[in-house]
Amino acid sequence: MPFCPKCGYEYRPSMSRCPDCDETLVAALPPDQGGLIETVELCKVPDEVTGMAVQAYLLEAGIDANLRDMRASFYANVLANMQGYWGTIIIAKTDEQKARQIYKEFQNAFG
Ligand SMILES: [Zn+2]
Repeated sequence: MPFCPKCGYEYRPSMSRCPDCDETLVAALPPDQGGLIETVELCKVPDEVTGMAVQAYLLEAGIDANLRDMRASFYANVLANMQGYWGTIIIAKTDEQKARQIYKEFQNAFG
């Protein structure tokens, strides 16, 4: 399965670029990267604008946040449409506690 060398996300074999990072996918991550960073889903976002706002807010707080457009995967896209969201915010598991706190601040400020 191809991987994105930047965010480490694994894609279907038919994908050639990471839609989040605009990076060309590689067959395997380079070994000097110390393996995959464990990531978690912070939240779902209803649309691209909200997603970008949440991502920017997290980045400003020093959290390396990835906005994952669910359209990248057909099945995820169908599921996302059914459940009424556009994408998700992905963060490193090590940042989870801080990120959740910051996301709460974001919701308080803009929600
Ligand atoms: Zn990526």
